[in-house]
Amino acid sequence: MLLDPYIKVKPGVVLFGVHPIMITSAITVAGIYKKYMYECWITGGREGSHSARSLHYKGFALDWRKWTVPIKHRRSFVEEVQIALNRGLLNAAQNADTPLYINKEFQMIIEKTHFHLELDDKK
Ligand SMILES: [Zn+2]
Repeated sequence: MLLDPYIKVKPGVVLFGVHPIMITSAITVAGIYKKYMYECWITGGREGSHSARSLHYKGFALDWRKWTVPIKHRRSFVEEVQIALNRGLLNAAQNADTPLYINKEFQMIIEKTHFHLELDDKK
């Protein structure tokens, strides 16, 4: 399989055209779901049901299942994901000759129905 076999993809989710860095990040995200034995699902990709200016359409956002993570763990779970991904990003920026990673950061936002993960400009 393309991704870590631990990752399940909700039917209808379009991954084609999602930027490779998001796919790479998915492996890290899945590792954290797996560490706590939470089921891991990608629930949103490039398909259309996001706000007009959403990074989903540019391939720089993925949605993740929220309800498999217990409520009391969600905030620290999201922080753990962000720390792991941004550490990876920093490492890549130092070791790869690509401007893509400069001044960017991963943000995972707790939305009403899911976790929204995006790679965005550093604020
Ligand atoms: Zn989203």
